[in-house]
Amino acid sequence: MIGLGIESTAHTFGASVISDDGRILSNVKDVYRPPEGAGIHPREASRHHSDVAPKVLKESLIKASVSYRDLDFIAYSAGPGLGPCLRVGATLARFISAYYDKPLIPVHHGIGHIELGALLTGAKDPLVLLLSGGHTMILSAHNKRWRVFGETLDITLGQLIDQFGRSIGFSSPSGPQVEALASKGKNFVQLPYVVKGNDLSFSGILSAAKKLLSRFRVEDMAYSLQEVAFSMLAETAERALALTKKPEIMVVGGVAANKRLKEMLSYIAERHDSKLFIVPADYAGDNGAQIAWLGALYHKYGYKVEPEHAFVDQSWRIDEVEVPWRS
Ligand code: AMP
Ligand code: MG
Repeated sequence: MIGLGIESTAHTFGASVISDDGRILSNVKDVYRPPEGAGIHPREASRHHSDVAPKVLKESLIKASVSYRDLDFIAYSAGPGLGPCLRVGATLARFISAYYDKPLIPVHHGIGHIELGALLTGAKDPLVLLLSGGHTMILSAHNKRWRVFGETLDITLGQLIDQFGRSIGFSSPSGPQVEALASKGKNFVQLPYVVKGNDLSFSGILSAAKKLLSRFRVEDMAYSLQEVAFSMLAETAERALALTKKPEIMVVGGVAANKRLKEMLSYIAERHDSKLFIVPADYAGDNGAQIAWLGALYHKYGYKVEPEHAFVDQSWRIDEVEVPWRS
């Protein structure tokens, strides 16, 4: 069995062909880059996706040495994400499914990050830190759903980093550039540390960091921003770990690529006798494989929708979605 996954929630248009035993036969993407200092513009990003889609899809099939007729299902990212971007992926998937008469499987983008992470790292039943552009959540599986132990109350960790990056002239996403800058900082500047219960708030850090840019070196601001935001996350992750006693922690989503974050989480994992897994950098950011693999998992359970019932949901909650393969 093989299937195609189409990703188009935000800046990335991706297509991947995967087999149901988890072999990634192709994973092609093209990422929209807004002008320097600007954020992602949903309409411009969706135009980018429409422009690159034929090339990305074709390349993905060629790399996997398959044609549309060989596919056993078509999965697409139905949300959460930016409406115009989501619609590009959903429309293409619906068309391919209807034309070639293949099962159509809408999937949740965030769960795609998690399940692909589990496939690639081998984590079995982890406490998950989902740290993507659209999510900052601590989760664990219970009763066939991914349950949320803590999340951001405002912007995500990725948005904090990207918006800080934009204020100093980087184009989004700017995680690797902010990380490189932070590694050159050494003087800690106090920033608001806001943990409420097990939830996090990052918007105060952003406002304060932007304001303080005129008084301190940009390297020190990037360094302090990372230290404070990652410490908040580490605190809540540690609490969740103490409660759930999971023997594994897994970090997925674009921010998982950050080395300083990994270092902080390693201390916590060690203290709690838990094994730390980080999704491989090539698969940390949005990609088609996360959608294709989730489609393969649902396909085994016979999940599908008729093409005329294809949907997108910009604010689809992760804990509303059933994951029948999880206990
Ligand atoms: P995703 O939505 O999963 O593609 O994740 C994108 C987010 O990951 C963006 O906010 C990026 O800035 C962030 N990101 C990527 N690389 C890094 C990094 N090395 N450090 C911190 N954040 C990163
Ligand atoms: Mg993502």
